[in-house]
Amino acid sequence: MDRRKFLTYMGCGCCNLMLSSCGTTPITDRRQLKLIPEGKLNAQAAQIYEKIKKKEKLITDSNELKQIINIGKRMQDSIGVYFDQNNHPDPTSYFDWEYILIDNKKIKNAWCMPGGKIAVYTGMLEVTKNENGLAAVMGHEIAHAVAKHSVERASRNAVVNVATQITDVLTGGKLSQVNRTTGINTVGLLTRIGIFNPFNRKQESEADYLGLIFSSLSGYDIRETPLLWERMKEAHKGKKVPEFMSTHPSAENRIKKINEWMYEVMLEYPPNLS
Ligand SMILES: [Zn+2]
Repeated sequence: MDRRKFLTYMGCGCCNLMLSSCGTTPITDRRQLKLIPEGKLNAQAAQIYEKIKKKEKLITDSNELKQIINIGKRMQDSIGVYFDQNNHPDPTSYFDWEYILIDNKKIKNAWCMPGGKIAVYTGMLEVTKNENGLAAVMGHEIAHAVAKHSVERASRNAVVNVATQITDVLTGGKLSQVNRTTGINTVGLLTRIGIFNPFNRKQESEADYLGLIFSSLSGYDIRETPLLWERMKEAHKGKKVPEFMSTHPSAENRIKKINEWMYEVMLEYPPNLS
């Protein structure tokens, strides 16, 4: 294969590359590349989640944890009801939801791994301030998992890997040599760190939009969402290690978009739980 043909082949877009490995995101209907089976990624995430549970100091009994579980359960239910009412397969049907509160005031962060494994750090609660603020953060993180953003990212990494291997062969195997001498397993490394890497801008925006919808469906006041992001921006001002903002950049643009969507979402996705 000459170089030009190779580039054309690799650059032809996800749905030409492998027809069967494409899907669309729920609600937003964006086309996605899904080469990695969801079950595989969920199982891997669950393993890492267990390791984190052993390593971190967890709060196992507090009103905050109860609130996190309560918000999560409401969202689980309303997401299920929504997809059921719209005759759409529930993207969370293979989820094994779990919630932990990590006792670390220095970290203002929260995440949801593929398959619904959720963690909130106590530092984040200082920014969320109230139930609606916490629901906004959880809705956003859950949206990443519901939209299978990690499956998409891991699939892109897999394509990069294939591309790297092909390039490697073409360039005389220099990368393979590096890997052999340093013992670094690039494939494993990419998949592993993929879970904690920042999502791309399109995925972030999608998580904002879907997060608003899930918060609204489960009965929370989404007018708190832009306020939450304002507080987040303030909390990370002048900080050397901006945990949440480093994986969630461009707060101004985010807030602007959320304000544009907010009232439409309230009207179109009213609470669906009794
Ligand atoms: Zn995000």
